[in-house]
Amino acid sequence: MPTCQNCGKKWSWKQTFIRLVRFRTAMACPYCGEEQYESASSRRKTMLIGMMPIPLVFILPYISGLTIWMALILVIVISAGMISVMPFFLKLSNELEPYW
Ligand SMILES: [Zn+2]
Repeated sequence: MPTCQNCGKKWSWKQTFIRLVRFRTAMACPYCGEEQYESASSRRKTMLIGMMPIPLVFILPYISGLTIWMALILVIVISAGMISVMPFFLKLSNELEPYW
């Protein structure tokens, strides 16, 4: 779970998840209220996790005989699962770091 770089308190899964699904770059710490940003290395990781299911929409119908719609539903379910594990990989930073 991410730790606030300002006050050092650990965010809970729920607190992190709520902040993640808002898709805002700045996330206010629930303890000290200070704006926190996702660190560059963490952003690369969560972006990769988020993009992983996309090729499955095209690959699954070929290898499993699923229709594209069934594959799409499956990918949405997988994506929801991946978003729910993202708080475990999230790292915070006091400043907005450049991507690379
Ligand atoms: Zn804090």
